[in-house]
Amino acid sequence: MVEEFDAVDVIRTKRDRGVLSDAQIDWVIDAYTRGVVAEEQMAALAMAIFLNGMNRHEIARWANAMINSGERMDFSSLPRPTADKHSTGGVGDKITLPLAPLVAAFGVAVPQLSGRGLGHTGGTLDKMESIKGWQANISNDHMYRQLGTGSGAIICAAGSGLAPADKKLYALRDITSTVECIPLIATSIMSKKIAEGTGSLVLDVKVGSGAFMKNIEDARALAHTMVDLGTDAGVTTVALLSDMSVPLGLTIGNALEVRESVEVLAGGGPADVIELTLALAREMLTAAGQPDADPAAALKDGRAMDTWREMVREQGGDPDAPLPVASNSEDVLAGASGVLTDMDALKLGVASWRLGAGRARKEDPVQAGAGIELFARPGDHVEKGQKLLTLHTDTPERFERAKESLQGTLTIDPDGHRTPRESVVLERIS
Ligand code: URA
Repeated sequence: MVEEFDAVDVIRTKRDRGVLSDAQIDWVIDAYTRGVVAEEQMAALAMAIFLNGMNRHEIARWANAMINSGERMDFSSLPRPTADKHSTGGVGDKITLPLAPLVAAFGVAVPQLSGRGLGHTGGTLDKMESIKGWQANISNDHMYRQLGTGSGAIICAAGSGLAPADKKLYALRDITSTVECIPLIATSIMSKKIAEGTGSLVLDVKVGSGAFMKNIEDARALAHTMVDLGTDAGVTTVALLSDMSVPLGLTIGNALEVRESVEVLAGGGPADVIELTLALAREMLTAAGQPDADPAAALKDGRAMDTWREMVREQGGDPDAPLPVASNSEDVLAGASGVLTDMDALKLGVASWRLGAGRARKEDPVQAGAGIELFARPGDHVEKGQKLLTLHTDTPERFERAKESLQGTLTIDPDGHRTPRESVVLERIS
């Protein structure tokens, strides 16, 4: 087969700040998926895009080419409207767990095709796998049944057929320092979400040290790019920007986060987790045609919990089984009295990862019980010797490295002041 282009010419176009043509983009994504464009050539192109960007038309074409690299799912035959949520990833972000059954309790189908964690942000599948018996890999038939006539919510592994070009490219970006690039992040996320076939999508774009986007301007730009891509593809898309400068909730780590999610489903849980869950649920319900639904009531009266229990059972899990607990724990105490002025999300995420909650390579196992419990939040007054954190792991030799990553955070100022965060939701973009 004679190839339409030469990868070197495509790379040169972008290196020299040119605009890639539709045909160049379609070809380079297809040829990369076929293995004709070599990994080192795609790495060079990704770096050229990282440095020189893409315009709106190139971004839309790039996303489309990635969608066309694989299969598309279609939920339009389901007897329920579909609504999906995607988070750009953060520390302690367990929102999918209470959110999916909460929205499904209103008769909306919620397909949450999720991934595993890599690096300091956790993965939804790793969290769910701490539930005894629960299965992430399920057939398409099972998925349609669970969504159409079952609980209506599903959290499962995304099949390898969806946007295969992104699977290769994301792994390559991860090892070539080309992840934090708005056109590449937006097209990576949206190609998978559009290929999934949802009718509506709510994006939770995280901002702060524990997120890809460290400042609000970049987060806004990413959100606008993704909302445009979704809208152009006929998917009703809205984005909320939410704070990720401190961890979400009071737990980081797989089983610990399941426990906290169940607390929220039982009508309790930390205020920030409840606030974000309800804000996203209202957006999803509005997009699915129920603007007057009251998700807070469904957390209080047990409807969301009933749907959670059904959803877990449908995938082989036992919602009543005790969650795994790590065999070793160590407390971190306040070194002084005063106001806790800093609790950096990235540093805590890295500490939890080092304790065994996350993985460094895709094939590494994770510890279900490893992670961190938080007992104070920025703005709290703490007394010297008071417990700030408990670290958990099955491998106690990991404590030292985890504590090293906490250096420079958990700052206590005797005369300090920090106003506690008023709202975790910072902005809405539609
Ligand atoms: N998540 C994705 O799926 N892709 C990115 O590029 C970043 C986060």
